[in-house]
Amino acid sequence: MSVRVRIAPSPTGNLHIGTTRTALFNYLFARHEGGTFVLRVEDTDRERSKSEYTENILTGLKGLGLNWDEGPGAAEPHGPYFQSERQDLYHAALQGLLDQEKIYPCFCTPEELQVERSAAETAGVTYVYSRKCRELDADTVSARIASGDKKVYRLKVRDEEVVFNDLIRGEIRIDASLIGDIIIARGDFNPMYNFAVVLDDIQMQISHVLRGEDHISNTPKQILIYEALGAELPRFGHSAMMLAPDRSKLSKRHGATSVQDYLAMGYLPEALINYLALLGWSPPDTQEIFSLDELVQAFTLERVTKAGAVFDIEKLKWVNTQWMRRLGPEGLWPRIKPLLEAQGFDLSQQPESWWIETVRLVLDKLVVLPDYLHQCDFLMQAALVGKPEDIQKAYALSSAAPVLDAFSAGLETLENWDLPSLQAEFEQLKTALPYKVKDIMWPVRAAITGRVAGADLMQSIVLLGRERSLNRLNQALDQLKVQAQTQE
Ligand code: GLU
Repeated sequence: MSVRVRIAPSPTGNLHIGTTRTALFNYLFARHEGGTFVLRVEDTDRERSKSEYTENILTGLKGLGLNWDEGPGAAEPHGPYFQSERQDLYHAALQGLLDQEKIYPCFCTPEELQVERSAAETAGVTYVYSRKCRELDADTVSARIASGDKKVYRLKVRDEEVVFNDLIRGEIRIDASLIGDIIIARGDFNPMYNFAVVLDDIQMQISHVLRGEDHISNTPKQILIYEALGAELPRFGHSAMMLAPDRSKLSKRHGATSVQDYLAMGYLPEALINYLALLGWSPPDTQEIFSLDELVQAFTLERVTKAGAVFDIEKLKWVNTQWMRRLGPEGLWPRIKPLLEAQGFDLSQQPESWWIETVRLVLDKLVVLPDYLHQCDFLMQAALVGKPEDIQKAYALSSAAPVLDAFSAGLETLENWDLPSLQAEFEQLKTALPYKVKDIMWPVRAAITGRVAGADLMQSIVLLGRERSLNRLNQALDQLKVQAQTQE
């Protein structure tokens, strides 16, 4: 059997990280097995579905590299791939079931059903529809239809056990007598959710339905619909839900839940994919950092875990740092560039190689992309901003003026403006002056970067350049002079 899997998002919100993980598992399974990955848009909920959400979901998945083989914008051999465009197909299938008397119209009013429900509640038993309308004779049915009585269509369910072997959770048994005759369409043949999903999956020849555990209660109902339609069952696999740190269902109140939010915070698409894969799938050995292609190689359903997966932002941050190192300065620069452009920085003032060196300078200090802006602000700003309290702390040291004076004199005459020369100059300063390393470092760092901690100081000075470095040292000296005068 050839593997055909699908992701079936409902466009009622932006691309959720939970949907993305389900899409990823389907994608990985399809690619690992040499199968087909289908995308279908489940937009039957007309009120909540919005085209901008469809757009966000499709571009989001593509941006993460989860390209589908069939669906909107790809091949469409089993189309349409929007449920809203499949109404005729649902109608035809429902008519077939009605002709075969596998479904029947039910005219029970909400009030009548409420009476049944209340009786079940009083008796303390699970409510199941009484099947009152299943026994109506043909004449009664015709008469009630002719008089325009409101109706829905129910499936004639057999009172047996529904058993399926979940690929992730093992055997699952549900007593269909507790499900009863489910409603599968409204009176106008507008299908209910479970019917549309099943017909689509049959017509799109889906071999494996891999989705979140939240759909597990739909599966027995869907199996009953497959049987009524005389179709072969796909294999089902339900992965554990993504949980918040308090083990409740992950929701907006726990923070960002959409892919777009995480990308905007400066997480790399590669890191998001990598992290989502680790959330519910355990790699075969100690390797934790994977590209999408590497995941395709390593992924098997056997290693998808049953236990709920807690979304751990610290782990995501770690994966992001690992991906930054993996991409390196050259790979990261094109990702950082748009952030700078958005802030209005003129990038043409320096050659690209200079910018790449700035990334190298701070690479091991970056957790998310915007950290670069903070780490490198001293290289981009015309006037030094930094942290005023750091500057104050450094300039309060008695070593400040003599250190800056000596260092700036040394730099004036430095022959080559490169790292070895600057390092040699600084070493000489440390030997020549009677101060502790910190008392030398702090004033220089504060004068150059506006902070007392940061990336390699000499390399920072190399990148800042001779003119700007000397200007900053002189400005610092001026400031120290004013400070000394006001203290006199
Ligand atoms: N449209 C459903 C959802 O977004 C998925 C249905 C399915 O995978 O069967 O949760």
